[in-house]
Amino acid sequence: MRYHGREVEVEGKIRLVMESALSARDRVGVQDFLLLENYTSEAAFIENLRRRYRENLIYTYIGSVLVSVNPYKELEIYSKQNMERYRGVNFYEISPHIFALADNSYRALRTERRDQCILISGESGAGKTEASKKILQYYTTTCPTRQNTSSIRERLLHSNPVLEAFGNAKTLRNDNSSRFGKYMDIQFDYKGAPIGGHILNYLLEKSRVVHQNHGERNFHIFYQLLEGGDEQLLKRLGLEKTNPQHYHYLVKGNCPRVSTRNDRNCWRIMTNALSVIGFTEEEVEELLDIVASVLHLGNMQFGENEYGETHLTTDTQLRYLSQLLKVEGSDLSEALTHKKIVAKEEEMISPLSLEQALSARDALSKAIYGRTFTWLVEKINKSLAFKDEPYFSSKSSSVIGLLDIYGFEVFQHNSFEQFCINYCNEKLQQLFIELTLKSEQEEYDAEGIAWETVEYFNNKIICDLVEEKHKGIIAILDEECLRPGDASDITFLEKLEDTLGGHAHFVTHKLANGKTRKAVGREEFRLLHYAGEVNYNVNGFLDKNNDLLYRNLKEVMCKSGNPIMSQCFHREELTDQKRPETAATQFKLSLAKLMEILMSKEPSYIRCIKPNDAKQSGRFDEVLVRHQVKYLGLMENLRVRRAGFAYRRHYEAFLQRYKCLCPETWPNWEGKLVDGVSTLVKHLGYKPEEYQLGRSKIFIRFPKTLFFTEDAREAQK
Ligand code: ADP
Ligand code: MG
Repeated sequence: MRYHGREVEVEGKIRLVMESALSARDRVGVQDFLLLENYTSEAAFIENLRRRYRENLIYTYIGSVLVSVNPYKELEIYSKQNMERYRGVNFYEISPHIFALADNSYRALRTERRDQCILISGESGAGKTEASKKILQYYTTTCPTRQNTSSIRERLLHSNPVLEAFGNAKTLRNDNSSRFGKYMDIQFDYKGAPIGGHILNYLLEKSRVVHQNHGERNFHIFYQLLEGGDEQLLKRLGLEKTNPQHYHYLVKGNCPRVSTRNDRNCWRIMTNALSVIGFTEEEVEELLDIVASVLHLGNMQFGENEYGETHLTTDTQLRYLSQLLKVEGSDLSEALTHKKIVAKEEEMISPLSLEQALSARDALSKAIYGRTFTWLVEKINKSLAFKDEPYFSSKSSSVIGLLDIYGFEVFQHNSFEQFCINYCNEKLQQLFIELTLKSEQEEYDAEGIAWETVEYFNNKIICDLVEEKHKGIIAILDEECLRPGDASDITFLEKLEDTLGGHAHFVTHKLANGKTRKAVGREEFRLLHYAGEVNYNVNGFLDKNNDLLYRNLKEVMCKSGNPIMSQCFHREELTDQKRPETAATQFKLSLAKLMEILMSKEPSYIRCIKPNDAKQSGRFDEVLVRHQVKYLGLMENLRVRRAGFAYRRHYEAFLQRYKCLCPETWPNWEGKLVDGVSTLVKHLGYKPEEYQLGRSKIFIRFPKTLFFTEDAREAQK
């Protein structure tokens, strides 16, 4: 085939560029944003994404960062053959793909023996969880097997349907939205075979158990059980195979069914997964007993007598609860309607009002569900744990960690949950800054290239604002939670104002001149996050942070004869004098641990983008995408990576690819690689300011230099 060339002027020189290459680039955009001519232009960035999306090219790089746009349809790019195509291939030689990134991490793990982590971020529905599943599939399919390790692959893969049943729900944004953060280590032996795994979970959205917004559902498991459970099972659990509308905890969102989900099918997959993971029949029963008891709790009805004292008005649910949780019915009924306070070693019992009883009941449901979820993760971890063999020490193994965690969230109404989630994103941004800039710097140093300083916003100031000891937002919140007397969400807000009033990233409705700022409500504070401004409504902050369960309810649960419950509620809790950590502090501590884990590994990044709010394929909503490009910090990411050189490559690879363009390097260059590259680029007419030669790599400053070289190579073919 003959190519038609076109002569174009590049930096004052006439060069031959192939028409075919040019028009292809126009049509499908560049596969690496670093190669964008106008790399500071957000419009050019988005146009490139749009062009590629139109061609079903959902993956694009920013250097080693993978940007992914949710296709909302099944693409034929995840087959086993395609997995094979990406094995051992260099990043730039084949079109961008999540398998390339997975393979790249795996190879680094194998050759450099360095632990890896893959950080996946993006807003709800952008494709994070699907991405993490594709990576897990890639490893479990392509990595070598060891004897006795085939079952670990199965268990790794089957952990997903179980955690999704209990931790995912339909929301307005995503029909299968993960309501918890997840970090999963996949452990490999010295031959690169997967041999184990470990999961850490973060901040399950427990409030969903007792309340759902309109159009949303409770966790999938409830619907799966009602849809898929057989008659005998449901009878034992005291549940009717009816419309979920029968259950108070399932009606809030007025959305019992979701067209894209088949609850019965999922039930089958989930129960099968439980057995693959190693649940005994008894354990499955105990687990489902708990799921059913949450539904019974939700259906309990209370009445109030003339003195304002509350009592249960029906005892059907109580009967089932005492059977399923194996607790004394009268104890439970007493604990749901009274509270016990221990003061100066004296116990005092006082009746609850109707409202208090309902909230005690909901607190119990949330505690039961939340703790069961944690138990489930632990149980899965035991099943995934590498069982040491005599000839094999776990020291010689290495891990790839996968982080699938909520992205930055801004809603109309933002509460405690968004506060925690966005704080988490600030921490991840901190990590990103430290690791990318550090690695840029290290690369330049290692290659002996003069370091070029890069200007960027360091968000440490915002992390401090949230987490600093004594004067950070979490410290102030905890202080209010501890303070007896008149502490309330509003006094918390006032304390924030007093302490943080002058902070550059903290704003309330009060202006310094005594006037009010309209954009911030009277019950709100605003944080100026690295990704944008968010107003948080303080309503519920204290309660959510305290996350209290009345003592007598705990006592009842500690006596539960259901083995899972007795592992979830420990007696020590009752005698322990120390106050349990608040929700925010627990989260802060677990994030600090996560940062430590991630810091010790070599990171790769996947940034997921949701193209439209309608969950439809082929629709690219520019406003929505621009918003995410901003919140994901992609422009800044690109700017930092482009500040120095657009492109870099090992001498050997560069020479191999382009040696045909110069008679002196073709067919083989015999001398030192660096000299070969130098001869080649001089022959091609590179100017000194266009490139630098490091110890092992050539650094090319502008994309057009590379394009010119690529086009010349195309023409040679
Ligand atoms: P997130 O975890 O970011 O909230 P999910 O990974 O659950 O989002 O993706 C939401 C939905 O989008 C999925 O249920 C699926 O329908 C679709 N989706 C996401 N990624 C892909 C993909 N690579 N190919 C096809 N569909 C996808
Ligand atoms: Mg998810």
